Amino acid sequence: MGEETRGHGDAGTRGRDAELSTPLADQLSAPNLLRSLASATCPACGHAKEYHKSLCLDCYRYLSPDRQHALYQRIDHGYDRAMLEALKVLGAKRFILPRAAQWGMWEGKREGTNEH
Ligand SMILES: [Zn+2]
Repeated sequence: MGEETRGHGDAGTRGRDAELSTPLADQLSAPNLLRSLASATCPACGHAKEYHKSLCLDCYRYLSPDRQHALYQRIDHGYDRAMLEALKVLGAKRFILPRAAQWGMWEGKREGTNEH
């Protein structure tokens, strides 16, 4: 399905660091945003946050009131853009998601799980 981001000029960034090289905006897909909200990991700094909050308290307080307010939008009504702006302000290089093991209940089941 033609990945347009895979052009010339980024030859050294593929492979195991592929996730890290994904543009920040591309990481803010609805599934990722929902996964982050349902987790206890701050997507900006990786520290603990409350479930269903966008960011940890430290990151949240760092934002201006306008940006804080923007994070109360619905995911399909500008939340992704608000989060992108927030991450930029916070200097986040990527959208931090919890480790796969912690999504177990969210994903249902993981590959390689033997159920006999
Ligand atoms: Zn944080």
